Amino acid sequence: MTKTIRTQVGIIGSGPAGLLLSHLLHQQGIETIILERQSREHVEGRIRAGVLEQGTAWLMREAGVNERLDREGLVHDGVSLAFGGRMERIDFKAHTGKGVIVYGQTEMTRDFIQARLDAGGSIEFEAPALAVEDYRTGSPRIVYQKNGETQELSCDFVAGCDGFHGVARESIPAEQLTLYEKVYPFAWLGILADVPPVNDELIYVNHERGFALCSMRSHTRSRYYIQCSFDDKVENWSDDAFWDELRCRLPPSAVEKLVTGQRLEMSITPLRGFVAEPMSFGKLFLAGDAAHIMPPTGAKGLNLAASDVFYLSRALIAYYAEKRTDLLDRYSETALRRVWGSIRFSLWYTGLLHKFGDDPFNHRLQMADLAYLTSSEAAGTAFAENYVGLPFEKFE
Ligand SMILES: Cc1cc2nc3c(=O)[nH]c(=O)nc-3n(C[C@H](O)[C@H](O)[C@H](O)COP(=O)(O)OP(=O)(O)OC[C@H]3O[C@@H](n4cnc5c(N)ncnc54)[C@H](O)[C@@H]3O)c2cc1C
Repeated sequence: MTKTIRTQVGIIGSGPAGLLLSHLLHQQGIETIILERQSREHVEGRIRAGVLEQGTAWLMREAGVNERLDREGLVHDGVSLAFGGRMERIDFKAHTGKGVIVYGQTEMTRDFIQARLDAGGSIEFEAPALAVEDYRTGSPRIVYQKNGETQELSCDFVAGCDGFHGVARESIPAEQLTLYEKVYPFAWLGILADVPPVNDELIYVNHERGFALCSMRSHTRSRYYIQCSFDDKVENWSDDAFWDELRCRLPPSAVEKLVTGQRLEMSITPLRGFVAEPMSFGKLFLAGDAAHIMPPTGAKGLNLAASDVFYLSRALIAYYAEKRTDLLDRYSETALRRVWGSIRFSLWYTGLLHKFGDDPFNHRLQMADLAYLTSSEAAGTAFAENYVGLPFEKFE
């Protein structure tokens, strides 16, 4: 016989979106259960994003999960752009009064899992959701598997926070979704190593051999990326081959400071822009990568997951506190406005920095665009505003 458990909000996925949502709701006395396909070790070991907008950091503080963030997060007030033999800095602080915080998604995930468990929260690891049912009418149910048995989680609402390959979006009939997609013919090969970063801030590189990015997780742990072919494989790259290619693409001042070391991790990230509309279906709400993904160039994926949760948590809190449904009704259109704003920036920034074949015309345009961006006060302000993160809309 199928075992059924019950909660107020059933959440699929214990990535940043699911964990943040669960903790924000918990603080308002709203009960949640998170179903997670993977083991805790797997989820806590995944290496992904690392740049937090101020709005994301603010939400972590609102959730009270900021002790390590405030101690270990690195505040960055600008980035450098290297192109055509030059390196120019854009000062976020001077343009907007704001900066960003470098803090690994891996660390954020560990902090939230610990906080949920310390607060008595329920995360069912190794419990893959199979389908979401009855989300249009009545009481929605998540069918999932645990210890080889099929079980059901019955709830008032379902939050599909289960990433791009999850089942929440898959549970919606295809004809009710509009999908927008742009796939790039290249990817990022990334290395994580315990070596000090070449620079105190990120360096984005447009080079004739292809894009490169110098990023970091701490003063002693660096994350570097180089553009590679979309069908390249990690097995094709030794550590030495990676460092040699990176050296070719970096400006001389960075090469001088480059410290190389053994990989802790190496992976390939495909570049893609994708949006599924709408983000709500009756009592099923999509948040984060379940509804949209974007190329990582502008560091927006994780931050958009957080802004979706900002809107969704407020809508659910208003429902339980005052029986209001208007915010739930407006969730999709409100979240999507910020999604498209971030997609616009991420795709433009990707186009500015990557090598698209051997087209010299396109390269000249990129150089002109970069020269303008790094010399015009107005262009610098527009860039900084987008990079530090567009503000959350008022939503009450
Ligand atoms: C390799 C990689 C590198 C990235 N690098 C960057 C970067 O540098 N900068 C940036 O901003 N963004 C980056 N991103 C994007 C960023 O990490 C995501 O936008 C962010 O993780 C979104 O959070 P999320 O909670 O929506 O989804 P996820 O983090 O994907 O979490 C979804 C969770 O749902 C679980 N799940 C899936 N299916 C099921 C199921 N059927 N049942 C139960 N659980 C399920 C998954 O195991 C996972 O734990 C990267 C992404 C990847 C994959």
